[in-house]
Amino acid sequence: MARYTDSVCKLCRNEGLKLFLKGSRCYTTKCAIERRRYPTGQHGQDRKKQSEYAIQLREKQKVRRFYGVLEKKFSSYFEEATRQKAVPTGLRLLQLLEVRLDNIVHRAGFAPSRAQARQLILHGHFAVNGNKVTIPSYQLKLGQEVTPRENSKKLVKTLMEENPATGAPRWMVFDAEALKASISQLPAREDLDPTIKEALIVEFYSR
Ligand code: SF4
Repeated sequence: MARYTDSVCKLCRNEGLKLFLKGSRCYTTKCAIERRRYPTGQHGQDRKKQSEYAIQLREKQKVRRFYGVLEKKFSSYFEEATRQKAVPTGLRLLQLLEVRLDNIVHRAGFAPSRAQARQLILHGHFAVNGNKVTIPSYQLKLGQEVTPRENSKKLVKTLMEENPATGAPRWMVFDAEALKASISQLPAREDLDPTIKEALIVEFYSR
């Protein structure tokens, strides 16, 4: 599967904000965006007026990169979100991204970044309700329990000690002793990043 292999810090600089793609480094002064808060490239510091389309595109790219999802998968989440009439499309899209297994592993604090969470899952270090799952995009359902597998607990504990997390969000249940995480309810809009403008993403796909 195609994956982005260039420097991930360039993605943050081009979106103009921290996407937290490098784990603990993102919280230090070594963060590239702390040092150079302008886009990469020769004309990175030029001021440009963006078209409406460019603003919508950038918002979509920002969120896609934040969650580490490829375009095809991201647009399939959008399609799915449009089918759920009871919840606004933008919120449903974010909920679908939040309940991905790689995001839950990261949010619980088992891995310092989503990229690392993805790698750990691919290498078979996690189980859902006791069954090994190696699909980072696995959609977790309410109440399903995510745990490191028996032989992986030491590795995960070391990662957690090296990268102390800020705490699981309130829509999750996290047991630090037993190393168990689950979703107690879907995140409401106020639980999610206030800087995301999901309406722009809806407009982008509705063009
Ligand atoms: Fe983005 Fe983290 Fe790199 Fe900072 S250190 S630019 S937040 S990936």
